[in-house]
Amino acid sequence: MATEEKDILRGGQFLVKETKCEDVFTPEDFSEEQAMMKDSVMEFNDREIIPHKARFEAKDYALTEDVMRKAGDMGFLSVAVPEAYGGMGMGFVSTVLTCDYISSGTGSFSTAFGAHTGIGTMPITLYGTEEQKNKYVPKLASGEWFGAYCLTEPGAGSDANSGKTTAELSADGKSYKINGQKMWISNAGFCSLMIVFARIEGDKNITGFIVEYDGKTPNGITLGEEEHKLGIRASSTRQVFFNDTVVPVENMLAGRGEGFKIAMNALNVGRIKLAAACLDSQRRILSTAVNYAKERKQFKTPIADFGAIKVKLAEMAASAYAGESATYRAAKNIEDRIAMREAAGNTHQEAELKGVEEYAIECSILKVAVSEDVQNCADEGIQIFGGMGFSEETPMESAWRDARIARIYEGTNEINRMLAVGMLVKKAMKGHVDLLGPASKVQEELMGIPSFETPDYSELFSEEKIMIAKLKKTFLMVAGGAVQKYGPQLEDHQQLLIAAADILIEIYMAESAILRTEKNVKRTSEKEQSAQIAMAKLYLYHAVDIVEEKGKESIISFAEGDEQRMMLMGLKRFTKYANYPDIVDLRIEIAEKVKAEGKYCF
Ligand SMILES: Cc1cc2nc3c(=O)[nH]c(=O)nc-3n(C[C@H](O)[C@H](O)[C@H](O)COP(=O)(O)OP(=O)(O)OC[C@H]3O[C@@H](n4cnc5c(N)ncnc54)[C@H](O)[C@@H]3O)c2cc1C
Repeated sequence: MATEEKDILRGGQFLVKETKCEDVFTPEDFSEEQAMMKDSVMEFNDREIIPHKARFEAKDYALTEDVMRKAGDMGFLSVAVPEAYGGMGMGFVSTVLTCDYISSGTGSFSTAFGAHTGIGTMPITLYGTEEQKNKYVPKLASGEWFGAYCLTEPGAGSDANSGKTTAELSADGKSYKINGQKMWISNAGFCSLMIVFARIEGDKNITGFIVEYDGKTPNGITLGEEEHKLGIRASSTRQVFFNDTVVPVENMLAGRGEGFKIAMNALNVGRIKLAAACLDSQRRILSTAVNYAKERKQFKTPIADFGAIKVKLAEMAASAYAGESATYRAAKNIEDRIAMREAAGNTHQEAELKGVEEYAIECSILKVAVSEDVQNCADEGIQIFGGMGFSEETPMESAWRDARIARIYEGTNEINRMLAVGMLVKKAMKGHVDLLGPASKVQEELMGIPSFETPDYSELFSEEKIMIAKLKKTFLMVAGGAVQKYGPQLEDHQQLLIAAADILIEIYMAESAILRTEKNVKRTSEKEQSAQIAMAKLYLYHAVDIVEEKGKESIISFAEGDEQRMMLMGLKRFTKYANYPDIVDLRIEIAEKVKAEGKYCF
């Protein structure tokens, strides 16, 4: 047990412990069962979703509900649900890959799917009593019922614990009466069950309740009209009003005042799944864009042959590749941690809860990084299509609009950036991740004579690995310096937190792409993985630039005089390659590969 625990890195430890490529899981490691699941989900997407894109864009909410039912018939709503409650009980990687490959047809369906299987179902599987799980989970797993999650209120968005919805215990102690208004509720229009958060008396924290809703017996529940949104147009999003809604006491989730914890943990899982849900969109956007670029001729030349377009194709591919690498790396860490806890005697419920919580930092990193990548990818997709990209007739327009929401829900990207760093600092304080030791070593190094380590170029990624180690030192230098200067008041310095988060994000994403590629080179060859090597190098090159920029602005803001000069010199050292990669050549290689294959092919 002790050894197993040692072998699986804890959440956030990627920053201070070296990860071997053999220890990361990659999409190339999918088991036969996972590969079959992927094929079956892709086939469903191609059959039931993609051909009906126009109807989704025309706000055909009934279609979303209908396809959700079909997804239920196929078992896709039950992948993460334990067999004891009517689910398939598959591992976390399978859950993530289902979200990945089911989501690229339209954001409308992927939101409905994510809201139902994630925040609509998970609070019960993670926190429900046996009775609650037996009563509700099989219905949710099969798609007989759909779930919604009612947390946000007009006055309580990011500040989710500040909601005004109340729950009042009846005189006979048998039920609660819920009163209040919820806003932006996905699946509200067709759900049969709502996870509702409300405050009991003047409690500090909200409490979660399971509220049934059959649409016929109103029980004080009314719905607002469908919201008319920029994107995900056929995803049902409504306000929900509770007016003396009666909920039996046995429908309280976990204990009184535990709602905020439930809400946050449900969101942790939701965040990695949301990252996954953006991946296949990126692949699809790139594949569509490259085919258009090969056919569209200007100046008697296919636009795909222009350097300006190759840049876009290469960057789109590299970001999708890094996103995949990091998402599946974290997904497997979570799966392993769950297994480890189960082996140690935890119930599946406890193990899952703790397993996901452990990697909350990585979940936030992924949510931010991949939601921004898909937006950039769709934006460049429009640009490759030129004027046609701006037209509703081509798929880029809706992909761009649908991508936009991912930066807002499941905690905005600002909140997730601050959470990632905040959680890491907390872990360090609890002694779960030793940041202090490595941070002091970096400080000593800053005062010592710089080492001019030359990479051994006969080894793949020798330069890149040194760069990754230096980027980690940059984070420790910047975050360590900021913590020293501001202590607990650091949370009031949001610009610093956000800059530190950007550094953290880039390190995780770039390292994941490198480790995946290294692992695959070992089992194939450098020749076979040549474009992947190029993508990993290209991604890292940009990461280094971002780290340099964010590091600089941070150091200037919190350090002065000699200390500032020393740190800026350190930053220069930590962001300097011995030999810079020729990113023009790298991009050409990647773009040519994508052009030759006519799709995202990694
Ligand atoms: C289409 C859609 C579907 C949704 N589905 C659901 C659902 O099913 N269930 C549900 O409960 N909710 C849902 N939401 C709500 C969503 O989770 C919230 O919109 C989100 O959490 C942000 O809250 P807000 O809109 O009130 O924005 P605010 O919290 O008002 O934020 C506005 C801006 O201020 C920033 N900000 C806020 N607080 C801080 C801070 N402390 N420091 C720095 N910056 C800050 C934010 O990052 C953001 O940029 C959905 C929203 C949409 C649009």
